[in-house]
Amino acid sequence: MAIYLVNQGKTYRYERAGSYIWSPKLNKAGNQNRGYSLMKSVKKGDFIIHNSGGRLSAISVVKEDCKSGGQPNELKVGQNEYDWDDDGWVVNTKYYDFDVPLLTADLVEWAIANYKDDSAFQVNGKLRLQYLCNLAKSHAEYLLQRAIGLQKDPDVLQVLKAALSQLNPTPKTDEELAEEMPLKELEKTAAKRSSKPVEQKEVTTKQYSRDPYISELAKRLANGKCELCGQPAPFKDSKGKPYLETHHVVWLSKGGSDSVDNTVALCPNCHRKMHIVADEHDIALLKRIAKNNS
Ligand SMILES: [Zn+2]
Ligand SMILES: [Zn+2]
Repeated sequence: MAIYLVNQGKTYRYERAGSYIWSPKLNKAGNQNRGYSLMKSVKKGDFIIHNSGGRLSAISVVKEDCKSGGQPNELKVGQNEYDWDDDGWVVNTKYYDFDVPLLTADLVEWAIANYKDDSAFQVNGKLRLQYLCNLAKSHAEYLLQRAIGLQKDPDVLQVLKAALSQLNPTPKTDEELAEEMPLKELEKTAAKRSSKPVEQKEVTTKQYSRDPYISELAKRLANGKCELCGQPAPFKDSKGKPYLETHHVVWLSKGGSDSVDNTVALCPNCHRKMHIVADEHDIALLKRIAKNNS
């Protein structure tokens, strides 16, 4: 995914109305032009920030990869001074208009202080005189954040935020990386990591205090059997009592009460299941059981 900036000037209204951006392939002298050649690299899913007359006025989401396309008729009308070649590049893209445009004049100071080689701004902080421009990652990030701060339209905000999150995808956790790893590689990685010292983590958890009398009553009423699967407790504890765990049907962390009518006794397997799967049928069943216990 890439984010570009396009300088459209007078053609903005036509290109906006037609949901595209267009450039000739070669300049008037028949030579390559950076801003035109860059069109070829635009791909479906990329984002484009649109400048027209010193106002960043829209962001668009590219609908398909760039392709060859003749100059649209509406661009020929009244644009004779440009006298573009008909043979061009077209990118079909869905525009989302900003409620409040970002003025490029407000960006000059920032752009000077944060100059990047291959981006849309010149050393003097003004935009390059070029049709399509790359945007350095840090520049794209900054412009998106500035734009997010100004917009109210939820659709526009959604697109801006999507662009920002694609720029900075949340890195995968070790758990996710491990799950995706082929077995051979996993064996090697696990072996390598087996020799390293165990890390200690400080973990702070919120503990809800639960009433021991309510808990004991729930276990007694269960009579040694799990109230979800109906099976006898899998083992006896050190005092010889069937081992069951008490569970709050509506979790305390979600506002459930520590009361008889919200407490059941479960085998360790079912208890884990309730916390990991939280199946709605199981919850409904346990709610009924807890109500009956009270
Ligand atoms: Zn069970
Ligand atoms: Zn529980």
